[in-house]
Amino acid sequence: MPIYEYRCNQCDREFSELFLNRKKVNKIRCKFCNSRDLTKILSSFSVHQTEESRLASFNTSKKRGDDFYKDSRNIGLWAKKRMREMGVDLGPKMDEIVERGRTGKILDDYNK
Ligand SMILES: [Zn+2]
Repeated sequence: MPIYEYRCNQCDREFSELFLNRKKVNKIRCKFCNSRDLTKILSSFSVHQTEESRLASFNTSKKRGDDFYKDSRNIGLWAKKRMREMGVDLGPKMDEIVERGRTGKILDDYNK
């Protein structure tokens, strides 16, 4: 049985759908918000998705749920995208800050 992965264009969440024989692809809806505005993605692509493509598909105007921030890869993404939208390029320094945020090392600075 094939399993397809989708990203919802409304709430930006990803989910996988297992297709049984009679189930039709066009009946698929987002498991979270019931939207039909979905983009089909390949499993391997979602796992190995580059930061660039995550940034490109990232919409800062949408509200994020707790689930979003539980994914450590998403931490710092918002800030980075906003910076770019505002035309600010902090370059490697921004990457460093984001990386520290992701690894939790940023907390070290507060504990000193
Ligand atoms: Zn959705």
